[in-house]
Amino acid sequence: MTKLPKNVDLLIPSLPTPLILIENEITRAADVTLYIKRDDLIHDTVSGNKWRKLKYNLLDAKDKGFQSLLTFGGAYSNHLYAVAAAGAGMGFGTIGIVRGEDHEIRETATIQFCKDRGMVIHYVSRAEYKNRNDEEYVEKISSLYGSPYVIPEGGTTALALPGVQEMVEETRQQLGFSPDYFSVAAGTGGTAAGILSAGEKVLAFAALKGGSFLENDILKLSGNIKEAGQLSLFTDYHFGGYAKWNYELLHFIKDFKVAHRIQLEQVYTAKMLYGLYDLLISKYFPAGTTIVAVHTGGLQGLLPDLVDV
Ligand SMILES: *Cc1c(COP(=O)(O)O)cnc(C)c1O
Repeated sequence: MTKLPKNVDLLIPSLPTPLILIENEITRAADVTLYIKRDDLIHDTVSGNKWRKLKYNLLDAKDKGFQSLLTFGGAYSNHLYAVAAAGAGMGFGTIGIVRGEDHEIRETATIQFCKDRGMVIHYVSRAEYKNRNDEEYVEKISSLYGSPYVIPEGGTTALALPGVQEMVEETRQQLGFSPDYFSVAAGTGGTAAGILSAGEKVLAFAALKGGSFLENDILKLSGNIKEAGQLSLFTDYHFGGYAKWNYELLHFIKDFKVAHRIQLEQVYTAKMLYGLYDLLISKYFPAGTTIVAVHTGGLQGLLPDLVDV
């Protein structure tokens, strides 16, 4: 394994992340208090929920003396990006198993960044990638790289929960009480599960099509099936599917930035806030409800067209 640049400062987070009050016609008409928890500001490259979810996984890998990390992701994955940056910062070698057929492999900016940080990229077909959670398969592919510490897609493991719980605790301290709901975008559901496991109610907005499976995944991950009443999963705000978007969503991102000086991205956070605004408009919540929407970061994957608007 090549020696990687060691930059310990890289992992020093900006904590606690700001909690920002969002006020506009929609929140006023709904008589709801809305905050945004700015986890996008945790760190330049290991941002948002990826930092929260990776923290205890990486400390575990260090404690156990592992030299390298192996993980899974797509060619635009925020998780892959975060693992490459955090791994380099903490002196681990990193290996990324990336979904992509030979004919469609393009070096995305995300993959370029990962390679620059020393990540070894191993492309596999879509069919093969489907095995990413199969124990035997994981053993086989990781054995090609010695014995790396394996982190599943999205960093969603039991060790992701305590990191997310720290975000919840930080928020409670900032507010002085627990909000009625935390609102979050869901991909694997690890972040939603972490919030539930901290004993809070969650509004989870699936970022992908056909996301109803997330209900089970989230409840299983959070380790307590009794928490079913605490989770409200919304599956109709995927805008066509994972990483799909339309101009309405892009306009929403632009308008939100003009109004609040906060940048959202089109894969997760804009879909969540769009869905949340829709619920506010339809008077889904009783007057006086307090909601904390979590800005889970992901701005490395912002559409280039949106960077300067
Ligand atoms: C990965 C990601 C999510 C999804 O988090 P899960 O824990 O997988 O549900 C949400 N928002 C952003 C910005 C992400 O990068």
